[in-house]
Amino acid sequence: MSEQRNHRTDHGDHGDVSAAWEALVATARRTVTDGLVVGTSGNVSVRVGDLVLVTPSGVPYDRLTPDDVTGVDLDGRQVLGTLVPTSELPLHLAVYETTDATAVVHTHAVHATAVSTLVEELPLVHYMAAALGGPVRVAPYATYGSAELARNALRALDGRTGCLLRNHGTLTHGTGLDQAYDRTAQLEWMCRLWLTASSVPHLTPTLLTPDQLTEATEKLRDYGQRA
Ligand code: 13P
Ligand code: ZN
Repeated sequence: MSEQRNHRTDHGDHGDVSAAWEALVATARRTVTDGLVVGTSGNVSVRVGDLVLVTPSGVPYDRLTPDDVTGVDLDGRQVLGTLVPTSELPLHLAVYETTDATAVVHTHAVHATAVSTLVEELPLVHYMAAALGGPVRVAPYATYGSAELARNALRALDGRTGCLLRNHGTLTHGTGLDQAYDRTAQLEWMCRLWLTASSVPHLTPTLLTPDQLTEATEKLRDYGQRA
């Protein structure tokens, strides 16, 4: 076993970090192949103890190798790698500071971004809003990468695991990359659903009541296979 592999730092075990980086790159690539992002838009992060691995700014995800691992501490100081971290560092760090999330996904998914320009909150067209903690809010616009955008997003996220960023995109978090990614995919799907239903001339979509959402929220706790 190499010396490097045995090496333990303040920022976790080397093996944990390489595995987390690999998973982060796979998730970032998926945002592109699933059509949630074009080019180098969007960014992904994952927390390993006091270390936050992030996608580097403006680097196509298919070019990222194990040597490109990019990490910051919880104050945003770069502790791993030489590539410049994502410009949305304030957004990602704000989520880690205020929640127990271990992964954050930001995309420019087209239907979600369209909805962000139309309403203050995604109308309750489907019970999967429960998977995001309730009706998904739209954070007011602020320049990408700014502390103001991070503040606006945190307000919109209150009690939710996802929000829309006005004229910009989506933000979701979760305990793990798969959960954070799945919430983005569900959010984009719900936005597409609402746009589709509300585009039919002369008809207006029915919406769920808060009670119906509460019932779905309770039932979703037992959704899927028993452990
Ligand atoms: P980065 O390439 O710096 O992550 O920026 C992409 C983005 O979506 C900014 O909002
Ligand atoms: Zn963005």
